[in-house]
Amino acid sequence: MKICTLASGSSGNSLFVETEKTKILVDAGISHRQLTARLKKLGVQMSDINAVLITHEHTDHAAALPSIKAPVYVSSSTVSIWKDRVEDLKEFEPGRSFSLNGALVTPFPVPHDALDPVGFTIETDHTKLGVVTDIGSVTALVKERLKGSNALILEFNYDEGMLLYSSYPWELKQRIKSRLGHLSNEDASGLLNDLIHEGLRHVLLAHLSEVNNTPVRALDSASSVLLRNGIEHVRLMVAKRRALGDVVIV
Ligand SMILES: [Zn+2]
Ligand SMILES: [Zn+2]
Repeated sequence: MKICTLASGSSGNSLFVETEKTKILVDAGISHRQLTARLKKLGVQMSDINAVLITHEHTDHAAALPSIKAPVYVSSSTVSIWKDRVEDLKEFEPGRSFSLNGALVTPFPVPHDALDPVGFTIETDHTKLGVVTDIGSVTALVKERLKGSNALILEFNYDEGMLLYSSYPWELKQRIKSRLGHLSNEDASGLLNDLIHEGLRHVLLAHLSEVNNTPVRALDSASSVLLRNGIEHVRLMVAKRRALGDVVIV
């Protein structure tokens, strides 16, 4: 499995996933022009994409949707948002797995202030990828679904101290910190701690706040978890905000 972030953060999110027989985007929250340009750098055309999986309706995850011709998969309870705007709309039920050319996709509910937000796992015969960004708190279900992943895309949204002292209005700070907001470095590290296992190889720290976090703080937090557990086989990376990330082969 090959994975590469095309963008990550509140200015837009998209993740490219390629398995033996299928090419998938998870979210399409940048312009169609940017999506096309970044995919081209990977040698992939927009017309090669077999499916676009949408986590939730926020613009930073779905901005390009009206112009996408590939099949777009959304949670069944959000179909009404898209049905007049998306050419080839498919629906999924959170909790129910479906197959895309041999890749098994499992959407699962996450707590976030959107209509029906989900995370995804994408599995092939030997590999499991887990993706959760935009998650206000870690539930037992989230942990259960991500268990056994070989690669993880995890939200490390904010540093608690930086958020506390940032210039954001109080209401916005409360929203970010709430159970339906975003995940702090500390919470994300707690989740990572619970997901460490022999087969975990790559962790991409994603959806970092531009104001309330820094790549160094997020990495410090995640690497201290690895250090505490004596783990040396896991590679940590921060997903780039406005550019193509490194290609990761899992
Ligand atoms: Zn977001
Ligand atoms: Zn969101």
